[in-house]
Amino acid sequence: MLQLCELSARSSPLTFGSVSAEDRSADVTIVDVAASVEADLVGVERAMARLDDGTYELCEVCGRAIGEDRLSAVPYEPRCAICAS
Ligand SMILES: [Zn+2]
Repeated sequence: MLQLCELSARSSPLTFGSVSAEDRSADVTIVDVAASVEADLVGVERAMARLDDGTYELCEVCGRAIGEDRLSAVPYEPRCAICAS
């Protein structure tokens, strides 16, 4: 009984670890990561342009304030909560 408990305690984390590593490599490829980084860069460039023309804190869709909470979470967020949903 004690041996069985030790076995399951040892094998469970190993099994879980290898399964999740396989899942990660299958779901997220380097192409996905590159696309994500590129999208972030585009967002940052657009945010810098909005800083220049004084519309950084305004939603690009409706023109209302994006909100400090949204901008502190994602500094290049271009839309308010209503337009983003
Ligand atoms: Zn909006």
